[in-house]
Amino acid sequence: MTDIRKIIKLSPEVVGHIAAGEVVERPAAVVKELVENSMDAGATAITVDIRDGGLSLVRVVDNGIGIQDSELKMAFERHATSKLRTQEDLQRIGTLGFRGEALASIAAVARVTLATRVRGAQSGMQVQNDGGQIVDIRPAACAEGTTLWVKDLFFNAPVRRKFMKKPAQEAQQVADLMQRLILSHPEISFRFVAEGKPVFFSPGDGKQETALMSVWGINTLRLLTPVEGGERGLLLSGFVGVGEAARGNRSQQLFFLNGRAMKSQLLSQAVEEACRQRVMIGRFPVCALYLTLPYETVDVNVHPNKWEVRFQDERGVAEAVRNLVQDALSQGAAQVAPPPLYPPPAQPAGADARVSRSEPADSPPAAMPPPILSAGMRMRSPTWEQAAVLEQRPVDEPVLQEAPPPAAQPEQVHAAEHVAELALTPVRLIGAAFNTYILYESGDTICLCDQHAMHERLMFDRLMKAYDTGAIAQLLLLPQAVALSYREYGSFVEHRELLAQAGYDAEDFGEQTVRLRSVPIMLGQPQAERSFREALDELAATGALSDDKRVEKIIMASCKQAVKGGERLPDEAMIALVRGVLEGNVTPTCPHGRPLMMQLTRTELEKRFQRIPG
Ligand code: ADP
Ligand code: MG
Repeated sequence: MTDIRKIIKLSPEVVGHIAAGEVVERPAAVVKELVENSMDAGATAITVDIRDGGLSLVRVVDNGIGIQDSELKMAFERHATSKLRTQEDLQRIGTLGFRGEALASIAAVARVTLATRVRGAQSGMQVQNDGGQIVDIRPAACAEGTTLWVKDLFFNAPVRRKFMKKPAQEAQQVADLMQRLILSHPEISFRFVAEGKPVFFSPGDGKQETALMSVWGINTLRLLTPVEGGERGLLLSGFVGVGEAARGNRSQQLFFLNGRAMKSQLLSQAVEEACRQRVMIGRFPVCALYLTLPYETVDVNVHPNKWEVRFQDERGVAEAVRNLVQDALSQGAAQVAPPPLYPPPAQPAGADARVSRSEPADSPPAAMPPPILSAGMRMRSPTWEQAAVLEQRPVDEPVLQEAPPPAAQPEQVHAAEHVAELALTPVRLIGAAFNTYILYESGDTICLCDQHAMHERLMFDRLMKAYDTGAIAQLLLLPQAVALSYREYGSFVEHRELLAQAGYDAEDFGEQTVRLRSVPIMLGQPQAERSFREALDELAATGALSDDKRVEKIIMASCKQAVKGGERLPDEAMIALVRGVLEGNVTPTCPHGRPLMMQLTRTELEKRFQRIPG
């Protein structure tokens, strides 16, 4: 039996609904289309206001040119656009909207009110369009420019409505979009209000920095490195953030092409490659990068959502971005701190600037002795003693000797490989400058090391390793009695297992009191009770303990426990630090991404003293 179905032409309403689904996926897509229309209309101030994540209301107010009475109805018609006339125009799309289907699509699946007044006109007009039908059109008193209210999104498309996430998640998507809009248009003043609360405000002064500040805040801005340059027909500008500025995900890797926000795995990858040595594993650099490319070399007409872009020369663009970011980072590092020169590269340029710098210690000398012995480093490792004996020197003479040949101590093969020259050359301690920078000599180079950064890196690695090998708990010297609130106790009873897995060993002591015997290894005794309460709180709220904060906590712990700049260290401690780093196959930056050491070659010195021609 065959059921032959007749082919029929779809009604315009059905076509409209199908297309609407493509353009109007969710509230963020509505906001995007409406704001782009406002920008195309020359607006210099745009306010976006959402309720229930935009599901019950999206309102966009602009001060653009407005819509003429005669054009009003047309604006809601599909493939009606004032921006594109011919096929050739598609090749050089400069305006943002160009398909002439946004308003029609949005109106098809919501209740839309549009109020507009052309600049200089006596009065304005207001149109009501419900589910694609214009139900009312009348003169209205309104400000110059255009305001759109999009209410009850998908009121007539229940299936679509079911696909919406929770309002908070939809709001987050809108916020992400607003960020990108603000950054792609520093010349426009944006105000974003969600659920009645102001979220972003950008003044629209035309400066990238100001725009960035309004979305990332001044503290993050301070951590960023400016990027500026050109390669292979690509112009690149913006900022990149590594080290402390890095985040736990890629949501803050923002790209803009010829003035519009875009998403690109290709570019994310390029940036991450450029930042590899400066960002910890599991963290991602942040960036706001502006690309300028000739219109003919990019295809923006890939998807109606217009996030994606196709480059004619994908590899070339990626490589140019990688190189330019890399350059910026090595220059940027030189502005704040000397570049990481470890393991030593062939021949660094700009030695002068580095040598003449002297940085103040980053904290005043502490009265406490450095807690360096707790760092899990061998103060006098067998190799050190052995070497000293071989060299007939007293053991505590500040000389570092190379490790025995790899065959004797296979675990040091890695170290020797990683720090090739340094580890294989005998090292002699000179002392510490400003009680902060350990100075030693090795073969033909002098090395300057940041004692805090080095210690921090070693502690961090040790804690991470302990954590990764399952040594998550640290016994408290004395079990601590902790009296819990009703809510905390409930959380304790319910989540005992999770707590134990995380390293909290606690025993019910009755009367809402527990005896805390151990805490996660990255926490010290003083933080025990507080962190336990925090864990109970998080469990009560979310039912889980987030793992992503783990790395942050370990960084914090290593930073707190590490020796500070300005602390005077005994020679042994300095030796132990240098040894730990040279032998430990460590990443050559502190967990925040700052360099551990820099070096100066004998040749550079001799040039500066004009012993040899420079
Ligand atoms: P497109 O933006 O692709 O042209 P839209 O459906 O988004 O298509 O908009 C249709 C038309 O309505 C636009 O071409 C423009 O003339 C007009 N329009 C829409 N929004 C605004 C606005 N905020 N200010 C002025 N004109 C607008
Ligand atoms: Mg449009």
